[in-house]
Amino acid sequence: ATPTALAVSSGRGSQLGILVSGPEALESTRSIDTVVLDKTGTLTTGVMSLTGTELSSADFDVLARLESRSEHPIARAIVDAATEFVGMGSAGAVSTGAAPTEPSSMESAEESARTASARSVETATGSSVTDFENIAGGGLRATVDGAEVLAGRPDLLRERGIAVDYPTDSIPRGATIVALAIDGQFRGLSFVSDEAKPTAKAAIDELHSLGLSIVLLTGDNAQAAEVVAEALGITEVRADVRPEGKVSVVSELQGQGRAVAMVGDGVNDAAALAGADLGIAMGSGTDAAMAASDVTMVKSDPQQIPQAIRLSRRTLGLIK
Ligand code: ADP
Ligand code: MG
Repeated sequence: ATPTALAVSSGRGSQLGILVSGPEALESTRSIDTVVLDKTGTLTTGVMSLTGTELSSADFDVLARLESRSEHPIARAIVDAATEFVGMGSAGAVSTGAAPTEPSSMESAEESARTASARSVETATGSSVTDFENIAGGGLRATVDGAEVLAGRPDLLRERGIAVDYPTDSIPRGATIVALAIDGQFRGLSFVSDEAKPTAKAAIDELHSLGLSIVLLTGDNAQAAEVVAEALGITEVRADVRPEGKVSVVSELQGQGRAVAMVGDGVNDAAALAGADLGIAMGSGTDAAMAASDVTMVKSDPQQIPQAIRLSRRTLGLIK
């Protein structure tokens, strides 16, 4: 593209709330034929809420104190639920009905609310959570009140030699699963989920009408990914992908001769965004994602994805 064409393009882009990282950012892209989309925070709101837990109130409180150290949407959901729980003073409100067996579940609602409230003060000071570790793409671990606490994907616990067994029909459809272990013992599951952004379906329809192939790429479990994919009309899904695996999926597709746009918001998307022919970051996302991308969509609206791709095609002189 000539410099003038580019100036026009980026002018149009900024009107649309699409920021281009530099003058040559789009010129170096190829004509995109495949769009790889992160799920959480990109196609979904990224605002998760707790849909159920098998944990006793005491165990849930331990989980919440561990999660209070994390920035992940899952952590938000759990910490918020623990706070609400204090307000409601009832464990039933967040229970799936799988009866907790710990003696602590026998505490009166009032009593456990008082304990939880006392503990949330500790959460604020963070005094009882030490040795915290964020395990990328898997979960968290720390020492909480002297106990070794691990929370995250069931496979993360299994990889560390902890037996995690549960009937699959106990999982709410499409939920993200958080397994908790204390001192090497599996204590139960909690479930969180979020929803597709209101414009996500229209955006996917438009990408299809531009003749693009679409791939949903997520670190979340396959069932949670399938529920979103089905709702949006996406047929190609790569789930359970570790952060370092996302960039491999992009290069695998490029190896098939495809020109790939990657859309994401997380630290875990950064390498894939940088590796893609066109990296598109959500403005609501992390700085790492934006720094790795060619384009940032200020409004974080999925409908800006087809707009960004049209903009890049226009810059390449492929369309007027
Ligand atoms: P994504 O944002 O696509 O879900 P991540 O790499 O951030 O991918 O996380 C992958 C998975 O690791 C999550 O779906 C979840 O199962 C687990 N996980 C990550 N962070 C946490 C956390 N703070 N608490 C519990 N589980 C977590
Ligand atoms: Mg994300």
